[in-house]
Amino acid sequence: MTETIDALAGLVAAGGVVVLSGAGLSTESGIPDYRGPTGVARRHPPMTYQAFTREPAARRRYWARSHLGWRMVARASPNDGHRAVARLQAAGLVDGVITQNVDGLHTAAGSTGVVDLHGRLDTVVCLRCGDRTSREELDRRLVAANPGFDATVAVVNPDGDVELDEERVAAFRLVDCTRCGAGMLKPDVVFFGETVPADRVSRCFAMVDAARSLLVLGSSLTVWSGRRFVLRAAKLGTAVVIANQGVTRGDGYAALRVDAPLGRVLPQVVQRVVAGADRAPGDGVGGSVPVVAVTPVAG
Ligand SMILES: [Zn+2]
Repeated sequence: MTETIDALAGLVAAGGVVVLSGAGLSTESGIPDYRGPTGVARRHPPMTYQAFTREPAARRRYWARSHLGWRMVARASPNDGHRAVARLQAAGLVDGVITQNVDGLHTAAGSTGVVDLHGRLDTVVCLRCGDRTSREELDRRLVAANPGFDATVAVVNPDGDVELDEERVAAFRLVDCTRCGAGMLKPDVVFFGETVPADRVSRCFAMVDAARSLLVLGSSLTVWSGRRFVLRAAKLGTAVVIANQGVTRGDGYAALRVDAPLGRVLPQVVQRVVAGADRAPGDGVGGSVPVVAVTPVAG
């Protein structure tokens, strides 16, 4: 167990690390990972860009549910895993952070220059004039447009998903862009059926191309938009390290696999490679990290 952390620390200590993070890094902040080891199934199919933009009823349903559910994300704060990444970046070992998460927690933890591959939930974009505004501001407008709506909710599940009957949804009032006066508002995140902006992808490829190693944190690499960077690194002969609870679709490319909670593993890596970092109680006495399974892959 300790050997795996040591191997991970050794790779990080060499510097030139580019981090690619996914939902698994934010589960310890209370944000559910729908594809993670808990196996929690999504209760509702994900909204597609096509449905959101073409079907007023679908759009209304999205905003009504999201209006109630997004506060869980807004309340979430970074965990030890996010903080560890920020410390490694401050120490000059991590050159860049690419995240598939839309929660903004890397930046909140102090990381800089984070590429939010799939956008951010705290930002809203007008599909007509392109104006970007804060979700907080929209929240205030939606509350004003829907007085008492919160009280009508039947069930808010522990993971923040919301059960709403169609009658309530039909009564929910949407608001439009205040800048152009008529534009449709959409959270500034990449929906299913939508592609990541090309310049953002290019920026990520440039980061991966310049990296000494690619460190995947908490992603099952199910989605191509993230997995392509693993394939690129592997093609270039760049070391791929995957730390995730459960198997991933990139395991075959990994020089090292760590299957353990990131909030425990990453602080131990920081202790090993950052001078002056606090040593946790129990560190150095034989692996205090409960590594569930380790799969070092040759090559
Ligand atoms: Zn507008």
